Amino acid sequence: MAKKTIFEDCDVLVVGGGMAGTGAAFEARHWGRDLKIICVEKANIDRSGAVAQGLYAINCYMGMQWDENQPEDHVRYARNDLMGMVREDLGYDMARHVDSTVHMFDEWGLPMMKNEKTGRYLREGKWQIMIHGESYKPIVAEAAKKSADKIYNRIMITHLLMDETKENRVGGAVGFNMRTGDYYVFRAKTVIVAAGGASHIFKPRAVGEGMGRTWYAPWSNGSAYALPIAVGAKMTQMENRIVLCRFKDGYGPVGAYFLHLKTYTQNANGENYEKKWYEHTKEMVGEYIDHHPTPTCLRNHAFIQETMAGGGPIHMVTTEAFQDPHLETVGWENFLGMTVGQAVVWASQNIDPKYTNPELTTSEPYVMGSHATCSGAWVSGPEDLSPPEYFWGYNRMLTVEGLFGAGDTVGGSAHKFSSGSFTEGRLAAKAAVKYIQDKKAEDVKVSDTQCENFKEIIYKPLENYTVGRNEITGGTVSPSYISPIQGLQRLQRIMDEYVGGIATNYMTNANMLKRGLELLEWLQEDLENVGAEDYHQLMRAWELKHRALTSQCVTEHTMFREETRWPGYYYRGDHLKLDDENWHCLTVSRRDPKTGKFTLEKVPVYHIVDEKEKKQAS
Ligand SMILES: Cc1cc2nc3c(=O)[nH]c(=O)nc-3n(C[C@H](O)[C@H](O)[C@H](O)COP(=O)(O)OP(=O)(O)OC[C@H]3O[C@@H](n4cnc5c(N)ncnc54)[C@H](O)[C@@H]3O)c2cc1C
Repeated sequence: MAKKTIFEDCDVLVVGGGMAGTGAAFEARHWGRDLKIICVEKANIDRSGAVAQGLYAINCYMGMQWDENQPEDHVRYARNDLMGMVREDLGYDMARHVDSTVHMFDEWGLPMMKNEKTGRYLREGKWQIMIHGESYKPIVAEAAKKSADKIYNRIMITHLLMDETKENRVGGAVGFNMRTGDYYVFRAKTVIVAAGGASHIFKPRAVGEGMGRTWYAPWSNGSAYALPIAVGAKMTQMENRIVLCRFKDGYGPVGAYFLHLKTYTQNANGENYEKKWYEHTKEMVGEYIDHHPTPTCLRNHAFIQETMAGGGPIHMVTTEAFQDPHLETVGWENFLGMTVGQAVVWASQNIDPKYTNPELTTSEPYVMGSHATCSGAWVSGPEDLSPPEYFWGYNRMLTVEGLFGAGDTVGGSAHKFSSGSFTEGRLAAKAAVKYIQDKKAEDVKVSDTQCENFKEIIYKPLENYTVGRNEITGGTVSPSYISPIQGLQRLQRIMDEYVGGIATNYMTNANMLKRGLELLEWLQEDLENVGAEDYHQLMRAWELKHRALTSQCVTEHTMFREETRWPGYYYRGDHLKLDDENWHCLTVSRRDPKTGKFTLEKVPVYHIVDEKEKKQAS
């Protein structure tokens, strides 16, 4: 059982010390010199989150000082890639601030590659700049460490606390230290959730001995969604899960290959298969297929169709580019800076990309808010840009007062990537500090009873195990508890087979979703009986519970949107076409914390950037 309870009172509590969390801690100190700022991280902030191993490119940099791009361009880009469905106010807001973030990274010592001729940052593509980024995460962690009053590592936040004097206002968060087992209560005036996205909710391609080898960080377990969903915060675009086309088995990145090395893909017969699927795709999505660049999901779509038609395996043609020694070096270094595992996989499979074109694959789906996808919380936008439906007082505040989000947590704003997530953390922190300074967080009350109740709930899996193991007469299977890994595998199968995973080539329909929801509900009932043999397994148990709640929300959203908006990410077999007439809108859900029931609604998508221009022209 828990050793002791530790209380910590603060003004700004940052949950998750990844890219967005470090940005939030840094900026909170800038605006709130005298405030108490705490950051709580499940791993160790020096090497946590999706950027733990490093990156080779910063994927979001405007280059406004050289007029390379302007925020409007980025909004159009993200809108196009997400088939029209983005919050343009959030995207514009991030884009107009992101360059200043990158300039700070440069000042803090992140090695940036420079274009020798122009002296500017070396471009990999229109939005990406190249870095030697192995030390990216420790560098941003240092900024957070110097800013926050305290960083707590190895504490998993499991629940948000709610204020007991004012309805729908946050009061802090609770969790436990997975090394000592101590129970932590953080009573806070504001909470910024920056806990990353969700992997492992759909069954991964790599199972058994390869489990954990996913494209997305295996430790990202959807806390960013489960924490707000559990307290009734609204979510958006949760159906918009992402599927990635990457090098097979190692999931090594392809961006630098396409953009810098100018490699290209072909089917097993050496044909350009994307062309073959043009008419078929046009039939499904209309003119969206003619957009440039081709939306990510539609490129996946051609890949999936070609493979289903028997044209696989699909290869990346590297044998031409790798004849150039410089490009060969870049190709390898690209992995060494961020996905060493891909180089190891190639070595183990006798693949030298100079002589053999490596295979590509499409991944299992993930839920994220910062990549070529935008699932996440429904937040207020900035005052100067947002239409009334998108604005309720404080930038990046969720529909629960005092609760803010950034990075993968926030829905509707795709293509933020590492720099944009850090930037969004900064924006959320600035607003959170203002919320406190405006005296909106006065008299927040969290009773001891609330904290004690959570303590009992959090440690229950340890008790389930301690009691239940006595009933085992042989082997390891208990009649009364399930282990976190058993629960995880059951969750993954439900999502895979009913909600559009790899088992069905990303296909689902209302009947399958209905059944999936039923099975998810029963799974959640059984998760009351999950057993944990130690504090590490206790973390696994809570990761699973967060994944299950996130999955339920994803399934509800997928059921609600009766169209196939993003072929290549998933298909609704009963509504196989994009339907702009009925579904050119954002989807927003809310789970009632008392009943556990979800309600969903359509919310207009405003194309702010071009509206502005249209108005100016008229
Ligand atoms: C494979 C991959 C490749 C990418 N490549 C690039 C690239 O080349 N360039 C680029 O710019 N961007 C890239 N990105 C995007 C970038 O990594 C993300 O946009 C960014 O990390 C999102 O920031 P975040 O803070 O929301 O999440 P993260 O950085 O993942 O941070 C989330 C943090 O929350 C912690 N946490 C989770 N749950 C809890 C909990 N319950 N309690 C406490 N702490 C918790 C985690 O440990 C983690 O530290 C890539 C992403 C992935 C997955």
